Amino acid sequence: MYNNLAELTTKIKDTMIDYYGEQYADKITAAFDKTNVIIMDAADENRKNLNAICNSQTPKNLRFFDNQGTQIKTNLSVLAAAVSTSRPVIEIIDNKPVLQGTIEAIGLTDTFDINNRKKVEQLIHEFGHSVKRSASIINIGDKYLLVQNDGVAQDTHEIKWDNNGNIELHQVEIDLNIGLHEGKNEFDARKVSEMIYGSPSLSEAYRGLTNCAIEFDKIPELGKALTDCEFNHDNIPQFEKLYDSLIPDEKVPLCGFKPMNKAFDEYYKAATTLGENLLDCATLAGRMVNSMKYYAPETMQNNPEKVAKYSPQRKSLIKNLTKLKNNANLGKKYSLTPENRNLTSVKNATVKNITAPVT
Ligand SMILES: [Zn+2]
Repeated sequence: MYNNLAELTTKIKDTMIDYYGEQYADKITAAFDKTNVIIMDAADENRKNLNAICNSQTPKNLRFFDNQGTQIKTNLSVLAAAVSTSRPVIEIIDNKPVLQGTIEAIGLTDTFDINNRKKVEQLIHEFGHSVKRSASIINIGDKYLLVQNDGVAQDTHEIKWDNNGNIELHQVEIDLNIGLHEGKNEFDARKVSEMIYGSPSLSEAYRGLTNCAIEFDKIPELGKALTDCEFNHDNIPQFEKLYDSLIPDEKVPLCGFKPMNKAFDEYYKAATTLGENLLDCATLAGRMVNSMKYYAPETMQNNPEKVAKYSPQRKSLIKNLTKLKNNANLGKKYSLTPENRNLTSVKNATVKNITAPVT
């Protein structure tokens, strides 16, 4: 179907503009122009895992530190068939850090094939991250913070530097809102794939999160507002307000945007973290049901207009979440095989053999 990667990526870009809307065309085009797509070369000892690919995109003067102050090689997981990364290019000018741009890259394993739809869907998902990214440096007191947005997700690092231009990024907070973002991003990727291929998506990545994100889209205002937040991170408070406006006031602290969002994040961690058992996933899905059940029609009886407008969607939301809760095998598909379940063996595992979802 496609002769080369350029032809395929042009098709993905054009379809994304159709899907998301012309108002995002400039951002989407710019992201496609600057993103390097790197396919792992199995014969290249230096490029045998996706972390190596990501690290090859890191400016030489940049080092990463975790929240304990320990230097880390990368802040990305290797446990995926595809990853997308953004590395800041920072210069110190007049003793202040200035963001000169970012290096955007997508890493794919050597099994990538432009005519294999499942693989292409992984690439679409990764481009979804690329088009929704932005970064900035903010100054608070005597601190400078690098804030990187990936859709509604956000990473914050404190920037430290020396007189030789060496820059350190110290983790302040990472993966904020990551669950909601991954669910929404995968939902969008499937829609784009369906527009390209004209038939239902084959992807099974982030199944639980995506099944929840699908439900937002069934309420048009929510779906549209969430898409807007994916491109305009500053609008999250508006989304939160809209979401919370759909439930009776007295229930908001229990079941509003915040607990829902937290459940998404915890679910994401459970589904991607090593060693999480299946029960944990079921518990988290159960928590989401509890968090959202107040949307059920019976709690809206004092507001007939809302009941009429949202009942069918809410029913479907509760039904799907309950299904997730009851699915004891929920985590199985996304957990690593038992022999890979400790960090040591995972470190040595080759990416090719890992069936974890895209990140
Ligand atoms: Zn992802």
